[in-house]
Amino acid sequence: MHLRFGWERNAGEHVGVPMLSRADSIEAIAGQRFEVVVIGGGITGAGVALDAASRGYSVALLERGDYAIGTSSRSSKMVHGGLRYLQNLDLGLVREALIERQLMVQLAPHLVYPTPFLVPGFAEERRDRRIGIGLNMYDVMATTRVGRSRREMRSSKDEDEDFSWSPDRHRTIGREEVLELVPALAERDPRDAYLFYDCQTDDVRLTLTILGEAERFGAVMLNGADVTDVLDDGGRAAGVAFVEAESGERFEVRADNVVNATGVFADRIRPEEVVDEEDVPRIAPSRGTHLLLDRADVSTGEAACIVPAGEGRAIFALPWYGRTLVGTTDNDYDGDIEHPRPAAEDIAYLLDAVNAFFGTSASDSDLVGAYAGVRPLISTGDPRKSVDISRRAELYETSSGMLTITGGKLTTWRRMAKQTVDRLVEREGREAPCHTAELPLGMEARPADLEAPEGVGEEAVAQLAFRYGHAARKVLDLAREDPGLAAPIVAGRPDLLAEAVIAARYEQARSVADLLLRRTRLGLLAAPQLRDAEAVRPVAEALGGALGWSRRQVKREAEAWPAALAEAGADPAAASPSPTV
Ligand SMILES: Cc1cc2nc3c(=O)[nH]c(=O)nc-3n(C[C@H](O)[C@H](O)[C@H](O)COP(=O)(O)OP(=O)(O)OC[C@H]3O[C@@H](n4cnc5c(N)ncnc54)[C@H](O)[C@@H]3O)c2cc1C
Repeated sequence: MHLRFGWERNAGEHVGVPMLSRADSIEAIAGQRFEVVVIGGGITGAGVALDAASRGYSVALLERGDYAIGTSSRSSKMVHGGLRYLQNLDLGLVREALIERQLMVQLAPHLVYPTPFLVPGFAEERRDRRIGIGLNMYDVMATTRVGRSRREMRSSKDEDEDFSWSPDRHRTIGREEVLELVPALAERDPRDAYLFYDCQTDDVRLTLTILGEAERFGAVMLNGADVTDVLDDGGRAAGVAFVEAESGERFEVRADNVVNATGVFADRIRPEEVVDEEDVPRIAPSRGTHLLLDRADVSTGEAACIVPAGEGRAIFALPWYGRTLVGTTDNDYDGDIEHPRPAAEDIAYLLDAVNAFFGTSASDSDLVGAYAGVRPLISTGDPRKSVDISRRAELYETSSGMLTITGGKLTTWRRMAKQTVDRLVEREGREAPCHTAELPLGMEARPADLEAPEGVGEEAVAQLAFRYGHAARKVLDLAREDPGLAAPIVAGRPDLLAEAVIAARYEQARSVADLLLRRTRLGLLAAPQLRDAEAVRPVAEALGGALGWSRRQVKREAEAWPAALAEAGADPAAASPSPTV
């Protein structure tokens, strides 16, 4: 690939997960001065840190909990235009997101991948022509540059210059091809299906990868850093104060610019001087629930399916990490936004829809995981329901100069970051164009390029290549040096104990939950196997080895896990009666 700015990297040097340790980060941030301080370590904050650092700003980022702990670990994991938003005629949003989708496949090919999506039709139903019309629009809007045909793009790929990924146009496929892609639909006897492409990812890994890139450009980041105040200097936002989670100590960071990227919490951070309510967003949270099922219970094969869910609504059933991911709901929410949990009625709604569609009988006792997230939708004061409120991002500026960026989508993080940093550049009159459309995110590695030590199977290698790209070598090196770390965290799943050490050393993980809910997604993919403290003891030991925990602390951290799993609502099957046989 040709990089316009010549930032080709040396594969040997790039570890891909190079965050400073927490202790070093505290030292680098506390009491220091930066040009930009970013509050919030979800995908939006990570994007702002990367954009600003790559334009030459000195940047510090502070995250209250763990990176991506909020909505950025709770999405449907799709990098997509959002076919659904076409219904609202939100064409600008769809077009922007489709361009970003294309860029993400190009910049992070190991982490953002296309998946075939099916909208099956069954004998008894009439074909919904509106879907075909919508997909035609989706195809047209997915074209890279106005006036540039797919043929031109293909030939530029042949020349390996300025190549842009673009999916094939949607088409209708017959019964046989439908069943090849989704064998589980055989019982339903599908007539045909619309086939189109969208992309999937792991939202946390995408966030961590962006943070890793920001770090390469000199940004410093710290999790467990709860921002409590915006510092005031003659009416200007001049930095922030934060409380560090482990010591409980309060620190100040001075900054010329403060960016609030706290997602659904964005309306809670306000400098003293805010008097005009229009200067800050009003968030109308909406909760979305997802379920994970074993493929033996509900299988989409290698394709995703759009599943009707009553009253003209639709949900997705997606293949993800070898499981079937089902979601989502979209309901106004006034509960705890820090710990949203899947509601029983949402679980029942999703299971009913998916069972009716696949002719299965999965129940909540079959769930291998579940999660809920809260969308940072911006309220316009319009009493319409959240499904209709736009997913657009909004940038706010108070008279103190603090910028708040919220709303939007996982897919559009780069645009949101650009919009924010463009404003900083504009108000300072700097000459500093945005580079993020050309910056690779991590470094691709194909499974075949990775050498696995004894005992690490193909599935593990493929998963490591997806999750870490080139940096998978670090995990494999560790597993080679210490065969104990080549063991799987959960029997039958490809995640390795070595990943706990990598997470602690290079990604600021500091609890079992950081490892199981975010660095790996095992808490969502295998919750029933991880119910008790004993099951996670090896994880606590591996983390403890890297972080210097005492034996007592290892025990305490393992014992803290079941409460964290319960708090996330990730194991609804724990509460449900075992199925009668
Ligand atoms: C159910 C659901 C499904 C979705 N599916 C998709 C999808 O498939 N594709 C897509 O493109 N988009 C999707 N989205 C939208 C997308 O997930 C969000 O737009 C995006 O993750 C928001 O990221 P963010 O960084 O703005 O917010 P967050 O990820 O919530 O990050 C904000 C961070 O700020 C931190 N914070 C808050 N207060 C403080 C403080 N005082 N000090 C320090 N830190 C603080 C929080 O801990 C949090 O980590 C979905 C959203 C939901 C809810």
